[in-house]
Amino acid sequence: MAGNDFKTTRISKSIIFKSILLLIVSMSLIIVSGTAFFTQRQLSLIFEWSHNNNSSLLQQASMSAHSEMHQFGSTLELLARTSAIQSMIPDTAASYLKSYNISSLFISGETISLFNREKKMICDNSMLNSAPAVYPIDFTRITPHRPLISPWYRDESNTPTRAFGTAVTDLTAGDGSLVGNFSSKRLWKIFSEHHIGKNGFLVAINANGEILYHPDLKKWLNGIHKISEIGINDIDPKNYEIKTATFITLNDGNTYLANYVYDSNYDLGLFAFQPQDEINKLVMAVITASIIILVGSIIALLAMAVWLFFILGRPMNKLISHINQINNGDLDIDEINVGRRDDEIGLLSKAFNTMHATIKRQICELNAHRNMLEQEVKERTRELEIANAKLDIISRTDELTGLPNRRDMNRTIRNEIGRSERSKKPFCFIFIDIDHFKSINDTYGHSCGDMVLREVAHTVRGLLRRYDVLARYGGEEFLTLLPETDLDGAAVVAERFRKQVEEQEYTYADHKIKVTITLGVTRFNPRLGASRSIQTADKALYEGKETGRNKVIIWDPARTTEDDYRSAAIELAEEQKAMKRDKNISFL
Ligand code: GH3
Ligand code: MG
Ligand code: MG
Repeated sequence: MAGNDFKTTRISKSIIFKSILLLIVSMSLIIVSGTAFFTQRQLSLIFEWSHNNNSSLLQQASMSAHSEMHQFGSTLELLARTSAIQSMIPDTAASYLKSYNISSLFISGETISLFNREKKMICDNSMLNSAPAVYPIDFTRITPHRPLISPWYRDESNTPTRAFGTAVTDLTAGDGSLVGNFSSKRLWKIFSEHHIGKNGFLVAINANGEILYHPDLKKWLNGIHKISEIGINDIDPKNYEIKTATFITLNDGNTYLANYVYDSNYDLGLFAFQPQDEINKLVMAVITASIIILVGSIIALLAMAVWLFFILGRPMNKLISHINQINNGDLDIDEINVGRRDDEIGLLSKAFNTMHATIKRQICELNAHRNMLEQEVKERTRELEIANAKLDIISRTDELTGLPNRRDMNRTIRNEIGRSERSKKPFCFIFIDIDHFKSINDTYGHSCGDMVLREVAHTVRGLLRRYDVLARYGGEEFLTLLPETDLDGAAVVAERFRKQVEEQEYTYADHKIKVTITLGVTRFNPRLGASRSIQTADKALYEGKETGRNKVIIWDPARTTEDDYRSAAIELAEEQKAMKRDKNISFL
């Protein structure tokens, strides 16, 4: 059954394996690209979100600074409208300015001074008799409408500051100016309270790029420092913009997410810097989440593949291996068990088990039938053998006497010739003919004749040696073959036959019947062959008949003439040819 031996599917050829593989590959691609896309999107969202978040914080800080400065100007304006200031009386105005209610509106380093129309200082709010404050402000431009603000400058303690000037309308003594310096320390407080992320910070600059605030006050506010010194180069603070998430590496070696806003009303540029590490932590969180999703999805996918293999691949291979076993003739296998399944695999297994049972039952029936047939054939063969054996015996036996018939005798003679050639020992023939047998038939009837034939055969057979053969050779003629016997020995045997038959009396009905036999004895002569040798025995017998019957005549081999030998040689040659031909024909 080698041709039908279907091995279980090789993995490289398994359609289930291919489908699962395709599923895994395509799903993996979808998951990986989906996760990559999602991660990318998340990252840009994180950057955008951080940018916007910092931007709004920066706006708030800027607005606070704006309103602080605006508030300062408004306070100055309100003061300028008070009667104590408007009086322009030095003592009145000074005591008013130094009163607790007013002085508490300003912080240390801020000096408020009242000037007359000639720009001469009338008084200020300083408690000590220190030198009058110098304001880098153009008094001519001071109007009653709103405060005039000077550019940023440094006070004597190097703190960035700026002068606010407002007009004072004197009710009696004429117009003057109320001037005060706004200290950036007010803004430092605001900026330090605004947190950009965890470790982020704000840096304030003016339109010249001078640093007005930096959390590291000692380093950056001990003199005039430019924003370029911390690493922001070549910018125009008035027009500089950062619209999208931008990372800038500063001179401290760190990279920051930077935002910038510029308040043109108050010449205040504000930077927000958030360390990239903080953003990276968020990014890492997103990437970790993505990896967890990715790994989780791939594990789920693999679990699905394993599940698919278990519900599809395994039962299929079971089925194939069962079919193989059945193909190889092994029907004594268990049923396929795929559990309680009503799907295609379950139905296939059920169908297979039913088919298996049917094949098994049919094979059983066939085997039983075959055994029966084999038994029958055996019986028939045995009967035929017996019949053939019987037939063989019948074909070799004379029916009347039970002796070998002439054909069987001829075969015995052929065998004996072979044996004699090998053993170089002679063998003899005795040809026997019942005397006047015809008259027995004529006198007592044919069945009596048959009886006599049987009895004579019986008598002679009773005298045979173990290897001698007696056959019925003709009607009432018998031929005896005496193996390994010379002529003298044969003569003695023949005489014994003759004598015994002569003495024997047979009974038929009420009749006592006696018969004699005449015997011709000859030795087989290889040069004459079998039939011519037997002929010599027949000749001797004939002589016995001629000379009175009931006698034994020995054929003297010397009586055989050269003519006889020649004729015999021709006959033997012809016989041999015929035998060869027969052999060839039987071979065809
Ligand atoms: P002879 O002494 O010269 O031999 O005389 P015979 O009468 O025996 O002469 P022959 O041998 O010629 O006669 C043979 C007779 O044997 C002829 C035939 O009717 C008879 N016979 C041959 N076969 C059978 C047989 O099977 N049964 C019977 N009853 N008779 C047979
Ligand atoms: Mg005869
Ligand atoms: Mg006779």
